[in-house]
Amino acid sequence: MRGEWFKDHWRQVHMDFHMPEWPDDAIDSFDAKAFVAHLARGKVNMVALFAKCHFGNSFYNTKVGHKHSGLPNDFLMEAAEECRKQGIRTIAYYSFCWDKHAWDDNPDWRWVNAEGETFGAERPWGILCMNTPYREELCLPQIEEIARDYPVDGFFLDIPYAPEPCFCKFCKKKFKAIYDIELAPNVPDELLQRFKVGTCASWLREIRGICDRHNPDLILLPNGLGHLRHSREVLLLQDVACWESQPKPGDYLTHSYSSRQVRTLPRPAQVMTVRFYQGWGDLTLKPAPQLTSEFAVMLANGMESNSGDQVNVNGTLQPPVYDLFAESFGFVEAREKTLKDAKTVPHTAVLLPEPDAGLPMAYYAPEDWAAWRGAHKTLVESHVQFDLLLSGDVDKLADYEVVILPEPCAYTDHVLEQLRMWAASGGTLIAVGGSLVKRGDIALKNVLGVELVDPSPFSLSHFKLYPEVRGETAGLPLQLRGASYKVAPSTAEVLADLHYPMAEYQPPVKAFRSPHSPAQPTPSGYPFITVNAFVEGRGVYVAGSLFEVYWRTNHHWLRQTMDALYRHLVPEPPFRVDAAPNVEANLMRSGGDMLLNLVQYQLGHQGGQTAIAAIERVDPIHDIKCSVKAPANAAVILEPEGEEIPCSCKNGYVGFTVPSLKYMAIARVTRKRAKKKAR
Ligand SMILES: [Zn+2]
Repeated sequence: MRGEWFKDHWRQVHMDFHMPEWPDDAIDSFDAKAFVAHLARGKVNMVALFAKCHFGNSFYNTKVGHKHSGLPNDFLMEAAEECRKQGIRTIAYYSFCWDKHAWDDNPDWRWVNAEGETFGAERPWGILCMNTPYREELCLPQIEEIARDYPVDGFFLDIPYAPEPCFCKFCKKKFKAIYDIELAPNVPDELLQRFKVGTCASWLREIRGICDRHNPDLILLPNGLGHLRHSREVLLLQDVACWESQPKPGDYLTHSYSSRQVRTLPRPAQVMTVRFYQGWGDLTLKPAPQLTSEFAVMLANGMESNSGDQVNVNGTLQPPVYDLFAESFGFVEAREKTLKDAKTVPHTAVLLPEPDAGLPMAYYAPEDWAAWRGAHKTLVESHVQFDLLLSGDVDKLADYEVVILPEPCAYTDHVLEQLRMWAASGGTLIAVGGSLVKRGDIALKNVLGVELVDPSPFSLSHFKLYPEVRGETAGLPLQLRGASYKVAPSTAEVLADLHYPMAEYQPPVKAFRSPHSPAQPTPSGYPFITVNAFVEGRGVYVAGSLFEVYWRTNHHWLRQTMDALYRHLVPEPPFRVDAAPNVEANLMRSGGDMLLNLVQYQLGHQGGQTAIAAIERVDPIHDIKCSVKAPANAAVILEPEGEEIPCSCKNGYVGFTVPSLKYMAIARVTRKRAKKKAR
């Protein structure tokens, strides 16, 4: 496969270099040898080098574009040649839909909204349309110059989409030619979205053709098209998918979320953070414990590490950044040998609906994907072995024992049928909230063993768990700050009761101290959780939006409910970890061995809403009790130290205590070596 080398390059830098021409000293001190020496010192083995930036300035000797006026030499050629000498792979960065120079000089190339407005005059850079001759007159000829003449290994294609549909005269002409209707604001959004995806797919195919003519080994890495908001049509045109997943205020789970999703894609992928504290180009620097913690999450979840950097105005690099990289990439380097060729063990899949390969996922997924983020957070914190699997990859179902359906219900009939057959052959299907509710009915009702009566009219729900699924929750009616569904069991058994609130909040007539009313003491007569035997498998239904509400509220009893339900359904999981919810675990297979990876999130205080919690120092936590399913002759070795630790085999598991977890602990479960016979 093209770009096979990518999977062996674990220490990647995305070298941002968006540079206007007004600073007097812009790029006057670039020195390829010194530049690449920093990369080598920082243990970088793959780097994106700029060919053209958002300002529309090219960083190489282009004949068709505008070269940055401050650059006397050929940055791209010199840096790429020097990288090749040092064994560092390079990809050429090219900015598509943002280009100030092209926007200023070519009014016809501008992206235009439904009201006829363009954007660029008051911004650092303008937005361009890829259906205008900008593509043929500038972008494709420049890509051809680089593909033909430069010693790079591929392209990083940035800003592949304009933010919204474009209504320029070229889009109108093309739209009419394809669909035989006029492009106007009243065209259904679905068609506009298809047109947008099709536009991107068409120029990606053209770029592939250019590369194939000059150097078929060149890889295409379009930014963001590996992210869940995009479509399979463009995903399949990439050699490597990319997801920028740098932490956001209050949210460090982004690398885990992206990694657990992209690792199931039919393409290798890159998840990307930045060395900056807040975001691109601000030139602030994270503490090493913060960057190392982020890299550890990527590694533990089966990904390479990647960080953004930014070139100084004068074309040099900042030495302290490469001290940081030397430390954080050094951490990665020390674990590469252990993790090389290791693959995550499939067990539980959260199946994300992907109803149409030609539409962006963002078209139908709920705002901020709260149910998906909530499902991920719940399962990470409950130490469940799981992937986030797109329903377009439903042919992989046979690899999984448990499938969880978050909301919304957007599964195709084909996917539903596959789920039914998979459950019949022994799978455990867990449907949550409205994940199977469509057009006033519930899909897969034979699997779930319930009939839909109605959505509950209450905006608040309460539930009481039966003893077998009570887990760590308090013995109270538990609150769910969201609606639920009234279902009647046909063949299913009940594991929890739904309780209505005393009243819907209706001040001043009916109200309590809190708008969240207490529960009615007697059950509603409808279940909140059911389990149903279906042929060889089972269908489980949770009658409220547990994941979405957990993401919104952090109400720990919701996580504990799912944890207890999961343990009840899966009494013998692939591993068990006795640790706090801020420890994450992932099990991999490497040859005949298993690797249990542990990471932790040791955040500072949150501060205000826009602040990102710092990780200034990480202290090890100690003595984490673990067990992994293994034969009775198992031994456990800590990696990369190679130190064997005591273990005991019982009931199909090997039990051991990880003595210390700082950023990451790797426990290799292997076969006990035969003792040498005494002669
Ligand atoms: Zn257009």
